[in-house]
Amino acid sequence: MYYRIQEARFVLFYGILIFTDTLLCIFTGFSFTLETEVTSQMVSKQTTPELPSLAAATQHFFQEAAAHLKLDAGMMKLLENPQREIAVQIPLVREDGSFEAISGFRVQHSNARGPFKGGIRFHPSVNMDEVRGLAALMTWKCAAVNIPYGGAKGGISIEPRNYTKRELKAITRSFISAIMPVIGPQIDIPAPDVNTSAETMGWIVAKANELAGTDVRGIVTGKPIELGGSLGRKEATGKGVAVITLRLLEWLGKDPTQMKIAVQGFGNNGSYTALYLAEAGCKIVAVSDVSGGFYKEDGLDIPALFEYVKTSPNHLLAGYPDAKPISNEELLEADVDILIPAALENQITTANANNIKASIIVEAANAPVTPDADKILRQRGITVVPDILANAGGVIVSYFEWVQNQQCLYWDIDTVNGKLTGVMHQAFDDIWNLAKEQNIPLRTAAYVIAIQRVVRALEQQGVFI
Ligand code: NAD
Repeated sequence: MYYRIQEARFVLFYGILIFTDTLLCIFTGFSFTLETEVTSQMVSKQTTPELPSLAAATQHFFQEAAAHLKLDAGMMKLLENPQREIAVQIPLVREDGSFEAISGFRVQHSNARGPFKGGIRFHPSVNMDEVRGLAALMTWKCAAVNIPYGGAKGGISIEPRNYTKRELKAITRSFISAIMPVIGPQIDIPAPDVNTSAETMGWIVAKANELAGTDVRGIVTGKPIELGGSLGRKEATGKGVAVITLRLLEWLGKDPTQMKIAVQGFGNNGSYTALYLAEAGCKIVAVSDVSGGFYKEDGLDIPALFEYVKTSPNHLLAGYPDAKPISNEELLEADVDILIPAALENQITTANANNIKASIIVEAANAPVTPDADKILRQRGITVVPDILANAGGVIVSYFEWVQNQQCLYWDIDTVNGKLTGVMHQAFDDIWNLAKEQNIPLRTAAYVIAIQRVVRALEQQGVFI
């Protein structure tokens, strides 16, 4: 169903006494708003003129591709704004008896191509604007790699380190109660994101099953394997980044064993990216995390780094003995063939874009290159593989998890990885061919393909008749 309700506001209040096994009592009240003709503030919030919000960056790249497509003004407005935005208040009685009200959000950007899909994050910076941008990014990502999902995102505005595990579980369960009317295996399927994990998804499955009175484990992906998670999901984003990087090298006729690569970020995404590229014979000469970076001209021993962070303080790279320490700034400007930012947004800006020595940047993180820096990189002839293609491996294997849940038939790891590689190769080749045919950057080509797919789906539903 496509909502065209102007400012339709539903305010629902109901009290639910939730007695968890920890005896935390929570009174849940919520309101949600259906706003499809929302006057978006997607471009209104910018941290500084130099560092745009993720929402503003996504909007910029969407508008650039929409202009290339000469998209009709009505369609443009429809696609610039989310279909539905939900804001909820989560009341929490803390372990010490004090009371808090916590803000939660779910933004459903588009379900033109399939159920809404997108993670839930816990972070103090979570707000409606950020969640809006991330939801739109999911629509374009799923469409760019041609999986049958729309885009959504959710978030709870908390610093999770300040809460006990029982409090986090209670907050999660209460949030799910609040948004349950608009999520479901065929409606909107959340997943882990910043500061949420397979464990959080397990809590969601339990609460959703309880509310639905039936088994609805397909309501989330990124679950523990025992609860219906997919093999290969944990490694999927990094694996996908490696698959895309190697495909690009194939098209460029470059030998992976001759490539020197720097990876910023050694978390889930960056560490597996580095591992799979090292396995393919590339030389990973630099890696970093929030504690700093390490450089080795002959190539770092990535399995040894995996072992090191297993037992290092806070699982950080600091103190690694077998390489030269470098700063994150030095890593970004290192003399390498390929730079893979896999940590945070806004890492390559107008301040350092002219100093980048890599001829290829693969965006493993979301929005690591600002729109202004992107212009400089284009002028300098640097190839940028956009985030909506490069880091789609995670959502692709989430899609596989959902398919396996629907059919109650589970695949082995080779099947998962084989299908992941197939989807990513096809997506890369479509985008590469369009970029060459129309002489446009890979990013514009990825957005053009994604927008065309969503527009065709809307037209075929008769939205503008
Ligand atoms: P993570 O929390 O596991 O890892 C983040 C890494 O970045 C850590 O190593 C951290 O120390 C490092 N980091 C933080 N601040 C830094 C700084 N100032 N300088 C250098 N390094 C810093 O997160 P992740 O899941 O690996 O996600 C990383 C990026 O990839 C994010 O942009 C995320 O949105 C994107 N992404 C992740 C997935 C996924 O499935 N994990 C999917 C799509 C996109």
